[in-house]
Amino acid sequence: MRFYHHKPMHPHNTLALQARADAFACVTNDDELLEALAWARAKGVDVVVLGQGSNIVLAGDVQALVVQQAMRGIERLDASNGDVIVRAAAGENWHELVQWTLQQGYYGLENLALIPGTVGASPIQNIGAYGVELQSVLLQVHARQIADDKLIALDNAACQFSYRDSLFKHQFKDQLVITAIDIQLSRRSNVNISYPALADFFNEHPHIEPTPQAVFDAVVSIRRSKLPDPAVEPNAGSFFKNPVLAAEVAQLLLGKYPHLPCFPQVDGSVKVSAAWMIDQCGWKGYRTHDVGVHPQHALVLVNYGSGSGAQLLALSSEIVTSVYDAFGVALEIEPRIYGLKP
Ligand SMILES: Cc1cc2nc3c(=O)[nH]c(=O)nc-3n(C[C@H](O)[C@H](O)[C@H](O)COP(=O)(O)OP(=O)(O)OC[C@H]3O[C@@H](n4cnc5c(N)ncnc54)[C@H](O)[C@@H]3O)c2cc1C
Repeated sequence: MRFYHHKPMHPHNTLALQARADAFACVTNDDELLEALAWARAKGVDVVVLGQGSNIVLAGDVQALVVQQAMRGIERLDASNGDVIVRAAAGENWHELVQWTLQQGYYGLENLALIPGTVGASPIQNIGAYGVELQSVLLQVHARQIADDKLIALDNAACQFSYRDSLFKHQFKDQLVITAIDIQLSRRSNVNISYPALADFFNEHPHIEPTPQAVFDAVVSIRRSKLPDPAVEPNAGSFFKNPVLAAEVAQLLLGKYPHLPCFPQVDGSVKVSAAWMIDQCGWKGYRTHDVGVHPQHALVLVNYGSGSGAQLLALSSEIVTSVYDAFGVALEIEPRIYGLKP
């Protein structure tokens, strides 16, 4: 396996930010992963794990060994009572896994079609879209500890999943290399089209039966029509999480702003639309230097060419401040930030 030095990282992040990694290695199997971890320990450098770079902001050069997780393989482990367990290696492309499961007649991932990135990154922020989150199908996460190579397996409860969050962003932050996940899917169709955009789609197309394949197709078509393609307009998807507020706080806010989109959660809290608040503050379409807020998507920050991570983060801070001043709500950045000077 080759170790690269001062590796340019712009091809490895969907914001196309210019930065270099002190060292870089792409691992395609467990032996290479062990070699990379041993190398980092011997040199006394940190390890940063990379998938496809669709949820990171590079604020500067990364003073670490960047280990790109590229292990491949998808296998069916078990089948019983209409359910199947599938193990997917961390370097698999998430959307290709969704396609593969549908081709096999294994259902449960259709709402998560077209989310960029790798399987290994999916538990980090409990990826979610169109009314479904990874946590609804995840059985186990397999990983190696960076400090001592130890293999561990975490079940669903141990991952402490919540909205765009998990243990991997807290106690286990940058401590593990996820190597594979096990998911439980169904051979019976049980589609979820409760999410407003999906419900609208099937109401507007009453001749289309909402089969898992039709839900997959609908999600792909809605996403393609709505979300800017990072290959054309470099971005990291939603730059901010939707804030989750206590019911009383959301009620007060709704009293003042009756048009604020709200999504009640099962635990009584209320998720409110970050995009709506950013839009109300007038940010949509704003551009400074070579970074900006997408003209159609207030949640999406774009690098229009030679923008830097520092400029992007400065813009995001201005947005956070203005939303806080206007609504008293603190926005949180969704992507992980690397390359900040200590
Ligand atoms: C256009 C666009 C649309 C998006 N839409 C959605 C959406 O609908 N829903 C959603 O949830 N997300 C969405 N995202 C965000 C992104 O797709 C997900 O967060 C995805 O899981 C990131 O995968 P990645 O391989 O690119 O991870 P990276 O960006 O490479 O890494 C993200 C984080 O995960 C860590 N990580 C990655 N792989 C591993 C591993 N094997 N072991 C340990 N840590 C690891 C990294 O260290 C980093 O902290 C979108 C992004 C874009 C660009």
